[in-house]
Amino acid sequence: MKIAVVGAGIVGITTAYELARDGHEVTVFERRGAAAEESSFSNAGVLSPGYVTPWAAPGMPWKVIKQMIGSHAAFRLNFPLKGADIAWLWRFWRACNLPTYQRHRTALQQLAFYSRSRLHEITESHSLEYDRAEGYLIALRTEKDRAMVQPSLQVLRDLGVTFSELDEAAAREIEPAINTDTRFAGAIHLAQDEVANCRQFALLLKDECRKLGVQFEFNTSVQKLQIAGMNTAQGATLFVADTQANSQLSSQLSSQSPGIDQAAREFAFDAVVLCTGVQAEPLLSKLGIHLPLRPVYGYSVSAHVKEPLNAPRSGLMDERYKVSITRLGQRVRVAGSAQVGGRAGEMNRSAINTLYKVLHDWFPGAAVMSQGVQEWQGARPMLANRPPVISRAANNSPVWLNLGHGSSGWALSCGSARLLADKIAGRAGDISALAYALQSEA
Ligand SMILES: Cc1cc2nc3c(=O)[nH]c(=O)nc-3n(C[C@H](O)[C@H](O)[C@H](O)COP(=O)(O)OP(=O)(O)OC[C@H]3O[C@@H](n4cnc5c(N)ncnc54)[C@H](O)[C@@H]3O)c2cc1C
Repeated sequence: MKIAVVGAGIVGITTAYELARDGHEVTVFERRGAAAEESSFSNAGVLSPGYVTPWAAPGMPWKVIKQMIGSHAAFRLNFPLKGADIAWLWRFWRACNLPTYQRHRTALQQLAFYSRSRLHEITESHSLEYDRAEGYLIALRTEKDRAMVQPSLQVLRDLGVTFSELDEAAAREIEPAINTDTRFAGAIHLAQDEVANCRQFALLLKDECRKLGVQFEFNTSVQKLQIAGMNTAQGATLFVADTQANSQLSSQLSSQSPGIDQAAREFAFDAVVLCTGVQAEPLLSKLGIHLPLRPVYGYSVSAHVKEPLNAPRSGLMDERYKVSITRLGQRVRVAGSAQVGGRAGEMNRSAINTLYKVLHDWFPGAAVMSQGVQEWQGARPMLANRPPVISRAANNSPVWLNLGHGSSGWALSCGSARLLADKIAGRAGDISALAYALQSEA
């Protein structure tokens, strides 16, 4: 089939790869000039399938309210909130009950473990080399933090995930560079988990896609998606516009289609897969689909390793502040904060300061802070009350969705892509796809 993938974040790139592997003729449209320039650009890089759980959980609203207090709050509401944010919070709150949480957690973890094995297969089969390190430490500042993580440890036990509960001394053996001035209660060590650079992987996989014949149309925004009807398999037409007036594509297309308005060009496909992250709404709403998908902003700071002996070996998560510190090759990255409301490009200084504080608490002197520091804001494509949608838009529709991977898009991407490709091929996948189908809200 001739298939368009809209969006070249980690979800779009992995989707294009799996579709091309299945023999489809794939074109990727991306409004930015390169792959992984939006949410997949500078995320924490944590791949911890046992910790991929829904944010909407019993007791979460109160935890969120408590976490909002203080200058180092893990959760933030940026006022004034838009109506869509308030509606999102309302749906989120309604999903904070045990049966919904358990159902969604099972779905997410099934996908995350599957995704990890698919990521390893892809990495090995193409000998991809990107910054990665094994092991993940959940650092517990106090005994209260230890008590708070007990329910998630029970989940890990139920899943058969191997982990160890460590005291401070044992945690320091795993991460010897931890600040000697910082006293803490201990840590949970997940030796099989890992951290890895999402953007690097996306760029390498893009090259593999090209080798498989995938066409990339960068600087190209899909503005409209036209189909004969939601339930007809008659293909789809994409109307695209160049995001750079003098891009190569622009001149190519104008010479192919002289006289046609340069602002919009048409491409016909048998099927279209939307992997548009937080920007799904404009295309979806024209199809009559309304997902409770909002950006939940987070931040990261990346800096070059100053002295390897003072830097983390792999990943550490500060359970109190919900901030992770990861070692990605010659860089240290500290990431966290969950902010509802606000705007893309509007950096929250207070959230960034928390990242510097947490880095200093655990690994002072790990990174060069005087130059080459990258501060980044990213938007998690969060669905309020359900796992990601990996599904056909409607019976027989030529439109497919791979959307809403929230805080774990990197950890879920490879499995989601394989699952979607299997669905398009009409094959029973390796895992059940039921939980990710487009259905009425929980
Ligand atoms: C601070 C932070 C830390 C995180 N840490 C982790 C982590 O440790 N582990 C983990 O698994 N996940 C993590 N995440 C989440 C993860 O980064 C996201 O879930 C993931 O990047 C989403 O990928 P995506 O491909 O869906 O979206 P994106 O990467 O945003 O890709 C969507 C792409 O679609 C393009 N696009 C949209 N609309 C159009 C259009 N109309 N035409 C053409 N192109 C279009 C956009 O330009 C964009 O490039 C983190 C996120 C943040 C913010």
